[in-house]
Amino acid sequence: CGIVAYIGHREACPIILKGLHRLEYRGYDSAGIALLNGELNVFKKKGKVAELEAFIADKNVHAHVGMGHTRWATHGEPNDVNAHPHYSTSERIAIIHNGIIENYAALKKHLQLQGHEFHSDTDTEVFVNLIEEIQKQNACSLEEAVRLALHEVVGAYAIVVISKDSPNQLIAARKGSPLVIGVGQDEFFLASDATPIIEYTNEVVYVNDYEIAVIRDGKLELRSKEDVQQTPYIQKLELEL
Ligand code: GLU
Repeated sequence: CGIVAYIGHREACPIILKGLHRLEYRGYDSAGIALLNGELNVFKKKGKVAELEAFIADKNVHAHVGMGHTRWATHGEPNDVNAHPHYSTSERIAIIHNGIIENYAALKKHLQLQGHEFHSDTDTEVFVNLIEEIQKQNACSLEEAVRLALHEVVGAYAIVVISKDSPNQLIAARKGSPLVIGVGQDEFFLASDATPIIEYTNEVVYVNDYEIAVIRDGKLELRSKEDVQQTPYIQKLELEL
């Protein structure tokens, strides 16, 4: 139900956890975080963000790229396994997702036949395996695989995807579920709404339906589902802190 992601020069984990707290008002049943620091580590827990914080207190959470999620279960009961982020089968790609993938059952059957393994009951785990399969079959970039996957999923989503193979990159996309990008000085924030972003920057880009955002090497690129480059429209927020 809530998304926060960070890429830049600061420590990602505290920014993400603080952002998840700011999104708590939206309601949720579980929380999780993925951090990219050479490894791609996922930590997730049923319950409050405070429980996730306690769980990771003794873990290595040093990273400059990461993403966090608060889940409001639609497919699969609230538990640790169904919490986001979800890995692909190879565990090289991770996703967080708000929304519902309506055709997940058909996609899942297809992906199982191609050798993908599923650990959760979520529609989301299907999405990340679809991206992995498309990347494998087309030998393409992750952003291209995400773009092609958007042509196959039916439903509503805001997603953020990170990969062990692209250590300095965040990819995001949306249809129907909100997604905002905060543009800082050589750093970017992503969130379901501006509340986790506003203390760092007042420059934001609202991602449109069927747009894919690629944030890499300190630059933001927006593309349409048809692979046409879009000009990001940067708005100035005038919110009281
Ligand atoms: N449909 C997904 C799930 O059940 C995402 C739910 C959400 O928006 O938090 O895991």
